[in-house]
Amino acid sequence: MTYNKKTIEDINVSGKKVLVRCDFNVPLKDGVITSDKRIVEALPTIKYLLDNGAAVILCSHMGKPKGEANPKFSLAPVAARLTELLGQNVALAPDTIGAETKAMAAALKSGEALLLENTRFDKREEKNDPEFAKELASMAEIFVNDAFGAAHRAHASTAGVADYLPAVCGYLIQKEIGVMGKALEDPARPFVAILGGAKVSDKIGVINNLIEKVDTLIIGGGMAYTFFKAQGYSIGTSICEDDKIELAREMLKKAADKGVKFLLPIDNIIGKEYDENTEFSTVDSDSIPDGWMGLDVGPKTQKLFSDALVGAGTVVWNGPMGVSEWKNFAAGTEAVAKAVAESGAVSIIGGGDSAAAVEKLGYAAKMTHVSTGGGASLEFLEGLELPGIACLQNK
Ligand code: AMP
Repeated sequence: MTYNKKTIEDINVSGKKVLVRCDFNVPLKDGVITSDKRIVEALPTIKYLLDNGAAVILCSHMGKPKGEANPKFSLAPVAARLTELLGQNVALAPDTIGAETKAMAAALKSGEALLLENTRFDKREEKNDPEFAKELASMAEIFVNDAFGAAHRAHASTAGVADYLPAVCGYLIQKEIGVMGKALEDPARPFVAILGGAKVSDKIGVINNLIEKVDTLIIGGGMAYTFFKAQGYSIGTSICEDDKIELAREMLKKAADKGVKFLLPIDNIIGKEYDENTEFSTVDSDSIPDGWMGLDVGPKTQKLFSDALVGAGTVVWNGPMGVSEWKNFAAGTEAVAKAVAESGAVSIIGGGDSAAAVEKLGYAAKMTHVSTGGGASLEFLEGLELPGIACLQNK
């Protein structure tokens, strides 16, 4: 697989109409944007194109409108915020490929920007319909994909359009595949991966791929209890996927065969109920009593995991070490966030809960890379080919 894709700097964009797929799927409350992070992150690519004489046609999905126009999922607030951030008007087209929209795109001049309405207002988007992709492409001369968070989807605006236009990546995708691609292909060693979160089944592909590459694999969070059971421990009422116990055993064996150090929690914060305010206590991993469930890693494990990160060359982290949304069960995740930040390693944080923890705790600036895509970064780390990246021109 090549992660060496052409970027906006490798082509001449001057005087060209450029269709840019962004991830403007921002959180909204009563029509107001509650975090404009995704818009801000898209600015470097948009500004480069505008400054270099392109006429920029932006597009994105927002939420799940299920193929129908729905004002609740309109990109109007995004157009308004882009107008403020860019200091120039960004008009919103009435739809994605209608006649009026096409006329607006045709009239767009160098240095101007237009935002198409939510691509998912048309059911052909998610079906990657070739006619829809062709119509979308017909408005532009170049396609730029900068929506890493949607790159694992083969949709018309993320992949299909590349059948009709020269396609390159923007700065966001360039950074994502540059940092994560290097970790997979040529990591600074020792390479340590930390995986957590609720389910083994969600991360099995990542575990399987990373075991081939890492020196140390650390497993925490709800996932760990399936591994405990695979080793014959009692796990009380902890979350467990019984149909994945055999797979967990295979992973432990694979790690042993490859000489990969495999670290599991040695102690746990256990709770009586799955409840934020439940009674809790700390026990070793071989002593989880009946009727109790593991909800975080314990203090000895925090030290074990943190020590394993000292001197690491590369760290990849995806998934919390416990139910980090609840303050009594957040310490394990916080300890790992701190240890990763202080490791001095090339540090890559998968999207979702681990990215949120790192941001909340103020460690984001200390990390080499906090991925903008949860599902997409998982698939990338699984070694899968992402359609929104595979469709871009190689260098
Ligand atoms: P994921 O989306 O797979 O990264 O999983 C994140 C979710 O895993 C969070 O909502 C956590 O609350 C949950 N989680 C982490 N540790 C545990 C645990 N020990 N028991 C139950 N849920 C957990």
